[in-house]
Amino acid sequence: MADDPDVPPPRAAWQPLPPWLEAMAADTLAQRERWPHAWLIEGARGIGKRALALELARSLLCESPRPGERACGSCPGCTWVAAGQHPDLRLVELVEFDEEGNATPVDVIKIDAIRRLGEWAQITSHRGGAKVAVVVPAERMNASAANALLKTLEEPPPGTYLLLVAHQGGRLPATVVSRCRRLPVPRPATDVAVGWLAGQGAADPATLLAQAAGAPLVALELADPALQAERAVWLAALAQPRAFSPAALAARIDLGGREERRERLAAAIDWLLAWTADLARVRAGGEARLNPDHAQALAANAASVARISLFRYYSQLLGQRTLLAHPLQPRFVAEALLVDYRALFA
Ligand SMILES: [Zn+2]
Repeated sequence: MADDPDVPPPRAAWQPLPPWLEAMAADTLAQRERWPHAWLIEGARGIGKRALALELARSLLCESPRPGERACGSCPGCTWVAAGQHPDLRLVELVEFDEEGNATPVDVIKIDAIRRLGEWAQITSHRGGAKVAVVVPAERMNASAANALLKTLEEPPPGTYLLLVAHQGGRLPATVVSRCRRLPVPRPATDVAVGWLAGQGAADPATLLAQAAGAPLVALELADPALQAERAVWLAALAQPRAFSPAALAARIDLGGREERRERLAAAIDWLLAWTADLARVRAGGEARLNPDHAQALAANAASVARISLFRYYSQLLGQRTLLAHPLQPRFVAEALLVDYRALFA
C-alpha cells in the first residue's frame, strides 16, 4: 500500500458514528440490495450526517462485513477508511490540498475538485469492490461544479456510490436532487443528545444544546470555555440595549488577532441571530428557545421592540452572515450591526 503511487495522503478525519444514528445506519445498510447509486443525506449542520456518510462508506468498503452489511472495523478496508487513505473512497470537502498534502480551507467546492472526482470514478476499483465518493457539504458546490457532477450522476460507473451530504439541501440544483434518493436525517431526541454531551464532558449540556438549536456536534464546539465567556459578554450588552457602546463591544472582534477576526465576527453574528430570534419568539408569547439561560433579560426587552423590526433586523443579520466570505472589516461590520440593534429600541 505504501508503495502504491495512487494512494492519496490522509485527507479526511474519521468521525465515529454518533449513537443516535446507529439505527439509521443499520436500517439503511440492511436495504443495500435496493440502494440507488446516489444518496442525498440532508439535515441540520452538526447532527452527524458526515459521520453517517463515512460509516456507510466504510460498510460498503469493508472486506468482511458483519450481518446487515455493517463494517467490521478491523479489515484492511475499514482500517484505510478510518485512516483517511482508502483508494476507493474519495472525499470532497471545503478544503484544497497541494501536492504535499497540505490543506487550505476554502469557501466553495469548485469544478476542478468535481472533475477529479469524475476521473477517479472511471478508474477500476483498487480493492475489487465498491467505490464511494462523499461530497460535504454538497450545497457549497458552485454552479459549474454541480454541473460537472451531473455527468457522474447520470452515468455512474457500476459499483460506484455517491453520497452527497447537505446542510441545506434546498440550495442544491433540482437537476442534482432529482438524481439522488433523499435520506433525511432528523435531530436526535433532546435527552439522547444531552446524555451524549454530558458523556463528552460538556458542562451544562442542556444550555449548550439549546444554543446549538438541538445539534449536538455544534453544541460540543460551543462548549469551549473562552467562547462561552465571550458569549456572556455579548449577551450582557445586548440585554442593556440603551446602555452599551457599539464601538467598544465591536472592538472585541479584534481581541483574538488578525487570523481570528472573521471567526469572531461569525460567532457574534450567530449570537445576534439567536438573540433576535428569541426576542421575536418571546414577543409573540413563546419561550427563549436558543438562550434559555437569558430568559429573564429577553422577556424584559421583548416588550419594547416591534416584531416587524425584529424580522427586518434578522434578515439583515442573515444577509451579513452570507457575506462573511468576502473581504471586509469585521470590527466595522459588527459595529454597524450593533448600532442598528440599538436603534430597534429607540
Ligand atoms: Zn471491515
